[in-house]
Amino acid sequence: MSTAPATRLEVPGGAGDDVPGPAPRSAGGLDAHRDLPRVQQPAWPDAGALESAVAELSALPPLVFAGEVDRLRGRLAEAAQGRAFLLQGGDCAETFADATADAIRRRVKTVLQMAVVLTYGASLPVVKMGRMAGQFAKPRSSDSETRDGVTLPAYRGDAVNGFAFTEEARTPDPQRLVKAYHTAASTLNLIRAFTSGGFADLRQVHEWNRGFVGNSATSAYADLAGEIDRAMAFMAACGADFDALRSTEMFSSHEALLLDYERALTRIDSRTQLPYDVSAHFLWIGERTRQVDGAHVDLLSRVRNPVGVKLGPTTTPEDALALADKLDPDHEPGRLTFVTRMGAGRIREALPPLLRAVADAGRTPLWICDPMHGNTFTTASGVKTRRFDEVVDEVRGFFEAHREAGTVPGGLHIELTGDDVTEVLGGVEDIDDAALATRYETLCDPRLNHQQSLELAFLAADMLRG
Ligand code: PEP
Ligand code: MN
Repeated sequence: MSTAPATRLEVPGGAGDDVPGPAPRSAGGLDAHRDLPRVQQPAWPDAGALESAVAELSALPPLVFAGEVDRLRGRLAEAAQGRAFLLQGGDCAETFADATADAIRRRVKTVLQMAVVLTYGASLPVVKMGRMAGQFAKPRSSDSETRDGVTLPAYRGDAVNGFAFTEEARTPDPQRLVKAYHTAASTLNLIRAFTSGGFADLRQVHEWNRGFVGNSATSAYADLAGEIDRAMAFMAACGADFDALRSTEMFSSHEALLLDYERALTRIDSRTQLPYDVSAHFLWIGERTRQVDGAHVDLLSRVRNPVGVKLGPTTTPEDALALADKLDPDHEPGRLTFVTRMGAGRIREALPPLLRAVADAGRTPLWICDPMHGNTFTTASGVKTRRFDEVVDEVRGFFEAHREAGTVPGGLHIELTGDDVTEVLGGVEDIDDAALATRYETLCDPRLNHQQSLELAFLAADMLRG
C-alpha cells in the first residue's frame, strides 16, 4: 500500500504554548511500524478501499493542536511528581449512535463531578481526560464469534465494523475510519463547548454533587460533601474569583489501536517539525499490543504526544523498563504513563516490584490505576461484568502499593458512563445478578454508571486524604 505523505499541521492559536522538544528522531521512521508485527489489525477485505479512506483521513484537519498536546504533557509531569492527579474516564467503546449531545453531556458531567470530589480529597488540581472523542476501536481475544453454528468476524469497534451479528455488519469497512474521525470531531467540539461555556462552573458542579448525596442511600458521603460545602463558603468569604472557575480544561484520549488511522492523523508540526498524532491529546497502548518490538510501540515511540501503556499482572520489571527505554528514551517529564490493571486480588503483590524496579532505574513515569480490566468476569448466565467492591479494592491496593514503594499514585483510569445503566454489580443501588439485565447497554466492557462513578470518587477522595 502506498503511504500518504505527512501533511503540515497548522496550529491555530496554539503557537503561544511553544515547548522546546528534542530533535526529531526521523520523520521517515513514522512508517517503520509497517515492517513490524502488527497485531489486532482488522482484516480489511479491500485494500483499495482502505487506501482511499487513509488518503481521505490524511487530508483532514487535526482534531487537536500541538500546543494543547504539549500543555497536557506538562500537566502529566506535574501529576507524576505528586503535584496534580489525573482522572481519565469514559466508555469502554464509544459508539457512533451514542455520540448524542445528551449522552456526551452526561459523561462530561460525571467526569466533572468526580473531579471536584477528587480535587478536594487530593488538595491538588485534577487533570481531566475523556476516554472520549476517538475510543472507537477494540482489541479482541478472538478474531471471530460463533452463535448458533454461525461464525462471523468479532466486533472490533464502530471504527471497524458493526455490532449486529450479520455478515454485512461484521465485515470491516474502511469508510468507518472516516466516520470515526468525524464523530470524534463533533464529540470534541461539544466537549470544548461544555468545558469553556459555563457548564463546568465549579458552583454548578458542586450543586450536582449535593444532589448526589441528598438521598439516603448515598448519605454516607454527606460528610465529605459537607466539608466541600464549607470549603466553598470559605473561598467565597475570602473573595475567591468564582468567575475564573466557570471553565475548565478537558483532554481527549483513546487506545491507539488502528495503525492506519493513527498514522494518517500523525502530522508534522509546522513550528517544530516534530510529529504529533493529532487524533487525540493522549494515546495509550493496550495490554494486548504492548510488545516492545511490535508496531504499536514503534509508532507511538515516534510521536510527541504523551503516551500510556497498560500493564497487566504478568508484566515483569524487565518489560516495564524496556517499554520505558523505547517510549521515553530521554526521560522526558510527562511523556510516559503506566496504566496498571492488575486485578484486586493481584495488585498488592504484582505492583510493588514494578514500582521499585522503575524507580531504581531513575525513572518517574506517571502511574495511574485502571481498576476495571483486571476485574472482569462472566456470570453464570453469561453476562460480562465487574464487582464494584473489587474495583474499589484495586484502587485501595494501588494506593497501598505506592505508599509501600515510596512512589506517587498519580491518577485513575475508569470505564464509566453518565447513564443509569446496570453493568457493574454492587454500589449503593446494590445492583445484583438479576438487575444486570435491566439496562445492560455496553457493546464491550461493563461500565460504572453515574452513581457508581461518583461513589468511587468519594471513596478514592478519602483514600487520597488518608
Ligand atoms: C480497554 O481499555 O478497554 C482495554 C481493552 O484494556 P486493556 O488493554 O488493559 O485490556
Ligand atoms: Mn474495556
